[in-house]
Amino acid sequence: MEIEIATIGGYEEVGRQMTAVRAGDDVVVFDMGLNLSQVLIHDNVETEQMHSLDLIDMGAIPDDRVMSELEGDVQAIVPTHGHLDHIGALSKLAHRYNAPIVASPFTLELVKDEIESEQKFGVENDLVEMEAGETMPIGERCELEFVHVTHSIIDAINPVLHTPEGAIVYGLDKRLDHDPVLEDPIDMKRFREIGREDEGVLAYIEDTTNAGRKGRTASESVARRELQDTIHSMEDYDGGIVATTFSSHVSRVSSIIEFAQEIGREPILLGRSMERYSGTAERMGRVNFPDNLGMFGHRKSVDRAFKRIMNEGKENFLPIVTGHQGEPRAMLTRMGRGETPYDIESGDKVIFSARVIPEPTNEGQRYQSEQLLRMQGARIYDDIHVSGHLREEGHYEMLNALQPQHVIPAHHDLEHFGKYARLAKSEGYEIGRDLHLSDNGNIIQLVE
Ligand SMILES: [Zn+2]
Repeated sequence: MEIEIATIGGYEEVGRQMTAVRAGDDVVVFDMGLNLSQVLIHDNVETEQMHSLDLIDMGAIPDDRVMSELEGDVQAIVPTHGHLDHIGALSKLAHRYNAPIVASPFTLELVKDEIESEQKFGVENDLVEMEAGETMPIGERCELEFVHVTHSIIDAINPVLHTPEGAIVYGLDKRLDHDPVLEDPIDMKRFREIGREDEGVLAYIEDTTNAGRKGRTASESVARRELQDTIHSMEDYDGGIVATTFSSHVSRVSSIIEFAQEIGREPILLGRSMERYSGTAERMGRVNFPDNLGMFGHRKSVDRAFKRIMNEGKENFLPIVTGHQGEPRAMLTRMGRGETPYDIESGDKVIFSARVIPEPTNEGQRYQSEQLLRMQGARIYDDIHVSGHLREEGHYEMLNALQPQHVIPAHHDLEHFGKYARLAKSEGYEIGRDLHLSDNGNIIQLVE
């Protein structure tokens, strides 16, 4: 059976991930993501209104025109988890393919939101829910399987396409977490089985975000313990404490909520995306928030919540807000600019449970946001965080578990692929033979 892999997006950047695998006459697409930084550098761009080709020209969504060179029919579009760089282009591209979108339950809910807010295209692909551990047939001879992985959002999976030539494992976005919060540990047992059964693994597409970083990525429980220690250290403080983190990181949000309560403060979630992700997880029964936890997204209800906090005393609350990267329109940035009824006073604590995404726009915005907060006397606690992506030892573990014939680095650019390539070479892989460094828009032929 002929096997080809099209590296469509996310091979020259972090963002707009998209990869397609052709096995005989059947094609499966993994991820259709958005490169948000390409959107944010333009002022006032409303992507909901925009046409796909304009977004492709901006570098915001994958240039999927290479799909016409794959001689097969798309049987499934598979977003691996709910981050925008993996699902953000579905509303712009999925309608061009006559295939279902297959995703884990939480991811699928977020995909539905994306499709509903789309204004340019009617996306009518079937939406199929599939849990980790389940499989579905692809054409007559292949099978799609979801393996549970741990990442900075719940319900992440690594899809595996089983073909007569061996398995193709799409390994994007995970860390090997054996003690996560809210979820089961990563299913390494299944990866080891896949590496040893039938034809073994033909190809492994690997997440190289942290390539070149030594050691292992720490577990989410490490970030949780550090948060616990930090928030408990503020127990006697009788002024304002504010926390911010990735709103999609429901496990992290739930840890902050828990510790806020432990020091006798009422947690309140503020900001549109805070309300969206946590609200979805709560409705699905995926998290146990306290009864009547306040979650407010719209400007008026947020302002009302802030007024209540100021009336009843800041010392009784712990607002958890958007704005960990200093995004200009996010809640924490507006608080720093004095645009909300919440007064930040000298000595107030601001906890960033996030690391700055190393990219000039983010770094500049985050600097600005922190300075605004500091000018009012706020004290900053930063980097209370663990990465969602594996480091060198994780890469070694995955290569050992899967024993893949071919390796394809992804989820960054050539510079990072080079760092990963050095590691893969130490495990016996060779560039040009079984280690494939690829750009956006290429097709790698694995079996002719
Ligand atoms: Zn991700």
